[in-house]
This record gives sequence, C-alpha cells and structure tokens, in this order.
Amino acid sequence: MAETIKVAVRVRPLIQRELDAGATIVVAIHNNAVTVDHGPQRRTFGFDHAYWSVDAKDAGYASQEHVNNDIGKPCLENMLKGYNFCVFAYGQTGAGKTHTLSASSSKGDKQMGLIPFVLEGLFTHHRAKFKNDELRIWISFMEIYNEQIRDLLNPGRDAPDLKVRDHPEFGAYVPGLTEAPCSEIADVKKLMDFGTKKRVTAATNMNAGSSRSHAVFTIRAQRLTGTKPGKKDRKSLSSRVNLVDLAGSERIAKSGADGLRLREGCAINQSLTALGLVIKQLAEIQRDGGKKGAGRRKSTVDEQTKAIPFRASKLTFLLRESLAGNSKTFMVGAISPASCSADETVSTLRFASSVKRVKTVALQNVNKKA
Ligand code: ADP
Repeated sequence: MAETIKVAVRVRPLIQRELDAGATIVVAIHNNAVTVDHGPQRRTFGFDHAYWSVDAKDAGYASQEHVNNDIGKPCLENMLKGYNFCVFAYGQTGAGKTHTLSASSSKGDKQMGLIPFVLEGLFTHHRAKFKNDELRIWISFMEIYNEQIRDLLNPGRDAPDLKVRDHPEFGAYVPGLTEAPCSEIADVKKLMDFGTKKRVTAATNMNAGSSRSHAVFTIRAQRLTGTKPGKKDRKSLSSRVNLVDLAGSERIAKSGADGLRLREGCAINQSLTALGLVIKQLAEIQRDGGKKGAGRRKSTVDEQTKAIPFRASKLTFLLRESLAGNSKTFMVGAISPASCSADETVSTLRFASSVKRVKTVALQNVNKKA
C-alpha cells in the first residue's frame, strides 16, 4: 500500500560557536509542530515527529534512545519482515545529521546513532530472537563527492569511478561496490570505522569537521526461515536499508567557499538541487490525484514517476526506489535552534514539508522456495 514518507525534525543544542556569537533560541516545538521566529514572521510547520534535543533538562527532551525507538525500531522490524527501508538526514552543516545517524556506540548504548542502533539490534537482539532462522547481512558504504562515487570499504587508493546502474527487479545499484558480509558486530564496527576515516572531509567556516559529501550506508539482509531440519516453511525475506547522511544544505556563500570548496559546493548542490526537484515533482503528483494502480509491479517505479528526473544526479538515481518505489522511508530534518540559522532552518522545514507529501509503495520481498 502506498504510504507517505515519514518526516521527523530534530532540534539540536546550541553549539559553542552560536553561544559565542550571542545567538538566541528562535525555535520551539509543540506536539509535532515546529515554530520558528524568522525576523518579524512566525512560521509553523507540522511533521510526523518533532524532537526537542536542545537541553536534557527540558520537558519533552528527545534523547538518541527516543529517536532510535521511533525510527530505528521500525527499521529493524520491517527489515526482518522483508521490507526495504530508508532514512535520509537533511539539513545545514552542523545541524546534527551525523549525530542522529552515526554517533558511535563507544559512548554507550544510550548515545549511539541510528546506524549502530540498527546494526546492534540485528546482531544481538534479533539473532537471539530468531534462533531458528538464518540471518545473512552485507554492508556497503559509499560517498558521493563531486558527483563521483567512492567506495568507502575498498582499501585500494585507486578505486575505479563507480556508476549507478538500473536493475530491472531491484532498482538502482552500483556494480563493483564492495558488499562486505558481516557475521558479527565486531566486523561491522571495523568496517564502519574504516569507511568513516576514508570519507572526504573538508573544513568550512561552518564546522571544521563536517563533510562536504553525501554518505550512503547500506545494509542488505536476508532472513531464511525454516532452515532447521524438519521444518517445511522455508522462506527467504530480503531487504535493503539505505541510511543516508546528506551533505550540508546551506548556501555556499555562507560557508565562505572559494576555489575547490566552491567547485565541491556546486556538485553538492547539483545532487541536492536534483533531490529538491525530484521531491517537488513527486509531491505534485500526489497533490494531483495520487498514483493509480500503485504496487502492481514489483520494485519498479510507478508509471507516473517515469518522467521524474531521477537520473539528473547520482544521489537521486541511487535513491530512486527509496523516494518513489519499493521502500518505507523516513526523513530526518536536522535543525539548529539559533537565531543566526533561522534562514537555513526555515529552508530545511520547507523542504521537509514537501517530502511529507511524497508516497512510496513498500512490498514484501519474499521468496517462498528460498
Ligand atoms: P552535521 O552532520 O549536520 O554536520 P553534526 O551531527 O556533526 O552535524 O553536529 C554538529 C555538532 O552538534 C556536533 O558536535 C554534534 O555532536 C552536536 N550535536 C548535534 N546534534 C546533537 C544532539 N541531538 N545532542 C547533542 N549534541 C548534538
């Protein structure tokens, strides 16, 4: 059944740079609505979830655990039932995308981001719960930098330029990208650390540690049921989960970009501009009456989305199924509460509002004969 992309917005604490600049808090949350005082205007936007993560002492404070329970748990559950899932984090550099998705589990279970949460869940709790099943996991990790795909799990320095291709049944994929089988959480941690170190990071005035690339972490899972002797109900449930940390959505001018930084900025904008355009057109399709006959064909994008320019960038081509096809999808809009970021905050909230109208059609990927 067609379902809209679920949109969550998360407000992070003020950071030192903002405190030093004397920034005030101009964002507030009431239930699932986010209000921003933007100059003389007060703007309010409603979402599926709105997380206040500004101060742990505040009433209604949303911790990592809270966000993981809302988004990571359904991700895990759907994955094990054979549904594709996607979470993409959007927002200006320094707004909290990486914190929400990737914060390391080394700081403890309560502090880890969605990706470690999902992986820990798969390897620890679910392994134990589905003792009679066989669970196979592969991960891949890539970044899109200047419209080029880099394999973050390939140790070779001269990895070939990877392309996105279309698979008639499974949708977009990247031939040649490393897909590492993982049998233990330790394998995954090693690979994640390796990939994270390899990511291209470039300091900008916004945040010295921030990345200018889009990072796509993919978990592919296959659950084989009834594999124990004597069991007859053999089934294979497979799923693909894309966890995407998008590059900063801020305008280049504000980052003080020049030279290489500016060129990167252009390419980043090419992917983000394409994403914006794709979302706008998909939202218009929904407004104009919705998809008819959605879900007829497995894993292919519905007829009406054929004209959407997914191929205009590597990012949109890669995320086509996640944005318009066979997937349950979440967006996390990361925002700063600070007065100096109000422009960017409103622009993130506007984008998030249009994403809310976009529908995907998740189908169970099940093979009875396994
Ligand atoms: P982005 O990935 O959007 O560039 P980061 O996730 O790196 O931003 O966040 C910028 C800074 O703010 C980091 O130091 C991060 O630890 C901190 N931060 C972000 N979100 C939160 C949060 N919810 N709670 C506490 N600190 C946060």
